Amino acid sequence: MTILLGCIADDFTGATDLAGMLVRAGMRTVQMIGVPASPLPTDVDAVVIALKSRTVAPSEAVAQSLAALKHLQQAGCHQFYFKYCSTFDSTDVGNIGPVTDALMSELGTDFTIACPAFPENKRTIYKGHLFVGDTLLSESGMRDHPLTPMTDANLVRVLQQQTRRTVGLISFDSVANGIDAVKARITTLREEGVEIAIVDALSNHDLLTIGAACAGMPLVTAGSGIALGLPQNFQNDLNAVDRESADRLDYPSGLRAVLSGSCSTATQAQVAHFIAGGRPAFAIDPLKLAAGEDVVGAALSWAAPLLSDQIPLIYATAAPESVRAVQANLGVDRAGALVEQAMAQIASGLTRLGVRQMIVAGGETSGAVVSALNVSGLRIGRQIDPGVPWTITIGGTPMALALKSGNFGTEDFFSKAWSLLA
Ligand code: ADP
Repeated sequence: MTILLGCIADDFTGATDLAGMLVRAGMRTVQMIGVPASPLPTDVDAVVIALKSRTVAPSEAVAQSLAALKHLQQAGCHQFYFKYCSTFDSTDVGNIGPVTDALMSELGTDFTIACPAFPENKRTIYKGHLFVGDTLLSESGMRDHPLTPMTDANLVRVLQQQTRRTVGLISFDSVANGIDAVKARITTLREEGVEIAIVDALSNHDLLTIGAACAGMPLVTAGSGIALGLPQNFQNDLNAVDRESADRLDYPSGLRAVLSGSCSTATQAQVAHFIAGGRPAFAIDPLKLAAGEDVVGAALSWAAPLLSDQIPLIYATAAPESVRAVQANLGVDRAGALVEQAMAQIASGLTRLGVRQMIVAGGETSGAVVSALNVSGLRIGRQIDPGVPWTITIGGTPMALALKSGNFGTEDFFSKAWSLLA
């Protein structure tokens, strides 16, 4: 069985988002963390390689993306998907344009689309202009983004600045007229020398039309929205039984724990809810870490006797005033690094104590934990809340892992997630 769809995502949470969409559409999917060091698993329909290439120098983003492409080509993928943010996060020099150019050249293709639209998340494109909710991208909060400020909503113009290829538009007039109209528009654009086309989309129906029109296109570039429309093209190749159960995995059994190194608002509410329910929780004090106290040892000794019949939470989550005070004392970077390192060591210690099912809250925290556990990839399972699936680790000791980025999940996330593992 060969892999049908090979995806390259420019950041980790975007990769998880895309992988979740593909699973929902019936494709068994794994997400690899960085360019894989070993061959990809083959018992899946789609692979998403998660890079950290959104804000690095364009040459570095191109190099990482080409290395990822090579793995996907070696795995025999039929079609390739470059995934970026639904707000088209990029600077005037890149990286969406340069990476698209390089992937097109490597694949020997002279046409692709660029469609960050994700109507369910209120990202729509009309006449080439990207809207966030009711406002143009350039009037949304993205205008002030610290790394990738988006000050022009006209995506044809934005992308044209980043590429030497000619950028055109498949406008809503074509999309509204259906699959054949989109295909006809693609033919016309190609004749005019256009190599990359921004595509208008206002609804899920439009994404399905666009997805169908992209059947067989060697490279698609998009946000995760197009992942709603592409899998239908593979229906004949997907095993009907697998399709029904693409999110059903055999989770490793073992003891359970929650680790939280996120200070985002949603996580704060989740930690408070967990503690208010009378469940056991241990707070990590960054100042004690900085003073060289064995906080990791203390946390593990505290958790060890509880694990057999309870689910302990170990958290550094703190209110903004407290985080600011710690940062003023230690410096932002040092405070973050100390807590991340402690969380990673605690995760390893918990695994040694027999924990095989774990929730980790915090994007950076999750990164530190997966690296300490030698996790190279994640098999994507059932969605707990939007953007957060249960997964099974690839590499290291097999575990059920839920990696929750800061603002995701309902208040009862840390207690409700477990019932989905049954
Ligand atoms: P989120 O996904 O919510 O942004 P992250 O894990 O990505 O969470 O980022 C949170 C950062 O804050 C991490 O670097 C973490 O180590 C750090 N951190 C966590 N708790 C504290 C704290 N009490 N004081 C200072 N920094 C903290």
